Amino acid sequence: MDADEFRTRGRQMVDYVADYLDTIDSRRPLPDVTPGYLRELIPSTAPDRGENFDTVMADLDRVIMPGVTHWHSPQFHAYFPAANSFPALLGDILSGGLGAIGFTWASNPACTELEVAMMDWLGKMLQLPNDFLYSESEKGGGIIQSSSSESALMALLCARTEVIRQQQDNNQHLTKGQVLDKLVAYTSIESHSCIERAAMTGLVTIRALPSDENGALRGATLEKAVQDDLDKELIPFYLGASIGTTTRCTFDNLKELGPVCNKHKIWMHIDAAYAGSACICPEFRYILDGVEHAKSLAFNPHKWMQVNHDCTAMWVKDKELIEGAFHIDYYILRQSNHGVRMPDFRHWQIPFGRRFRSLKLWFVLRSFGVSGLQALIRKDISLAKQFERFVQSDPRFEIVAEVVLGLVCFRLKGDNSRNERLNYLIHKDGRIHMTPSKVKDMYFLRFAICSTRTGAADVAFAWDIVREMADKVTLENGSVCYNEFIDHD
Ligand SMILES: *Cc1c(COP(=O)(O)O)cnc(C)c1O
Repeated sequence: MDADEFRTRGRQMVDYVADYLDTIDSRRPLPDVTPGYLRELIPSTAPDRGENFDTVMADLDRVIMPGVTHWHSPQFHAYFPAANSFPALLGDILSGGLGAIGFTWASNPACTELEVAMMDWLGKMLQLPNDFLYSESEKGGGIIQSSSSESALMALLCARTEVIRQQQDNNQHLTKGQVLDKLVAYTSIESHSCIERAAMTGLVTIRALPSDENGALRGATLEKAVQDDLDKELIPFYLGASIGTTTRCTFDNLKELGPVCNKHKIWMHIDAAYAGSACICPEFRYILDGVEHAKSLAFNPHKWMQVNHDCTAMWVKDKELIEGAFHIDYYILRQSNHGVRMPDFRHWQIPFGRRFRSLKLWFVLRSFGVSGLQALIRKDISLAKQFERFVQSDPRFEIVAEVVLGLVCFRLKGDNSRNERLNYLIHKDGRIHMTPSKVKDMYFLRFAICSTRTGAADVAFAWDIVREMADKVTLENGSVCYNEFIDHD
């Protein structure tokens, strides 16, 4: 393919994507395929000779589309939103086209410098304490990671390196392995599995602590767990706190947890993957109160802030702890002829290479403006409130967690089995897509406002379907267990 053909194909592909998104409301959110469907549709080996791109385009509708879940359908209410906006798509085209990898400042200065600037823009939008900003502090700064999972892991590995160093400073006979055996990380039972996985990857013990009746991890619970571990001569070192859990969007009490962490020199990392975006609205910023105690935090503009996957914003208060944790020629690559020291992001992440992801963030922030992004968040929250009122108007149902942002967790009063059945019927019906969840043995349904195309009529449509399926459950006698559609995250 030469540049001229690329121009033609590029226009064709942009049309394809624009048409797809323009007409997405005509598609059912879930595809009707079974595992292994695609294998039958393509040859079992790569073609020996290059094919004409027309044949490739023709296969999109034959091979790919039948198996696509339409996350941007206005009837998609599962998981959490996945951002998808045109300015971000343009940024990804440009990033791909430049194809310039930014592992050090010199390997692509614009990549590093725009990222540094964007992390400060974002940090100010979230009203983060100055300690996290490049421009306002000596030590703070941020990076775009590819995921919240990676951010939680990076934070844990940095905390681990630091605590091992401190322990060995105090006792030179200790081996790393001996310290490792004593390290304990904490999180809440409600937090995302990525925290537990970070601990598993980091080979440290993790304790999932109980949440209170509102789903929050509280300071006293942490303090007690830490005391128990100190009594056993273990070394508490990391807390994975959550702001907006995936299961039911609950919030750990950072204002209580922070001081406990400070007292025991525990690294508090905040996972605000979904809810972080809401903090750009002053009226929701309170959910991050206590962030000043954190050593690191991350949220996903790729969820709820119009930046296409992948784009996770992660900040640290002390960049030397992240740059120094796994440094290889740490000071050697310092840029000599500049007054400003720019980070070499390869030290801040697991991979070496990195894409120019700040472009799409820049395009989004400039195209929507802060007030435009705030308006979209507020719209989604008001739609969730609308659904909540529907649920409350029907005495058969109950709300499972306070609706603060764009997620409504609800269930039929009574047995889990009735709710499993309800979930099964909604899933089988297929006109809307939701995913269930379970906390403390209570099974419930999650209705998330996901697509920017979802409006009041779609919420009313969804509620009609939920009610219709609930009528069936109410009519049926005897309960059958249909547990197969639980998504364990
Ligand atoms: C979605 C989500 C994650 C996982 O995010 P990735 O960026 O895919 O790793 C982690 N934590 C919470 C609370 C989430 O909602």
